[in-house]
Amino acid sequence: MSKTAETTGPDTGDQSQRFLFEHADTRGEIVHLDNAYREILAIHQYAEGVARLLGEFLAAAALLSSNLKFEGKLVLQARSDGQIPLLMAECDDTLQVRGIARGAEQATSDNFDLLLHNGQLAITIDPVNGQRYQGIVPLQEGSLARSLDNYFQQSEQLSTRIWLAADGQRASGLLLQQLPAQITPDHDERLHHWEHVCALAATVKGPEMLALTGEELLYRLYHEDPLRLFEPRKLQFRCSCSRERTLNALSTLDPAEILELLEELGSITMECEFCNQAYLFERSELAGLLQLDTTKTLH
Ligand SMILES: [Zn+2]
Repeated sequence: MSKTAETTGPDTGDQSQRFLFEHADTRGEIVHLDNAYREILAIHQYAEGVARLLGEFLAAAALLSSNLKFEGKLVLQARSDGQIPLLMAECDDTLQVRGIARGAEQATSDNFDLLLHNGQLAITIDPVNGQRYQGIVPLQEGSLARSLDNYFQQSEQLSTRIWLAADGQRASGLLLQQLPAQITPDHDERLHHWEHVCALAATVKGPEMLALTGEELLYRLYHEDPLRLFEPRKLQFRCSCSRERTLNALSTLDPAEILELLEELGSITMECEFCNQAYLFERSELAGLLQLDTTKTLH
């Protein structure tokens, strides 16, 4: 291969690409978010530091969802005492992403520890059918990627490392994961290869990750290691909210509270915080929730 980083532009679009090392039990995933990331940022006003962090969360959710083997979604949810009380990013098995930094209107910092001070990250795997699984890890070392690395190190899962970058226009991520021993059963050989591929990945700087396409990045890192690249899969921003789900959310409220709102406003409008879609419910539609006979009780 004589391809260099400069020969093609960085515009790979929104995609996730899987790859395998041919002679080792290691897989990888590279994600890039362009339009999807910008569309998500356009919904709210975020300061630069928040926008970058949200980009990293989106890239991480996309990387981790590449492991989903069923219909469902992976959710990253960070709660903190810092300038961002809640930061969420989700990606489902069809690679639809959404995300939000809630309560971050006043956040101005660029500093991870100020933005997510004392933060806890919940990683939830939420299948459509079946049991939810959640792991929790402290946000530390000034980086989402390092926090996720620590999570994988502490859990008894396959060795996994993650690298992330985002700049308000583009978000990128690289994941490496050891697979169960098959090709290289020898422990030392296996460890040596894992350390080798991780050491190379660690040489990549954020701007480089953002500027290179997936294939360029893989060439830059692993041109001496035979790789098998899979067809990239398209990522996109799409919100999973719906009228029905919004009504379900309303049903968790105290009926007295709903009634009060109806008396005051005549109808109830719920806005999806992820996409700003508004859902308006008339009194008659909410009668079921209130368990009241609308014709007699309401006027
Ligand atoms: Zn929505």
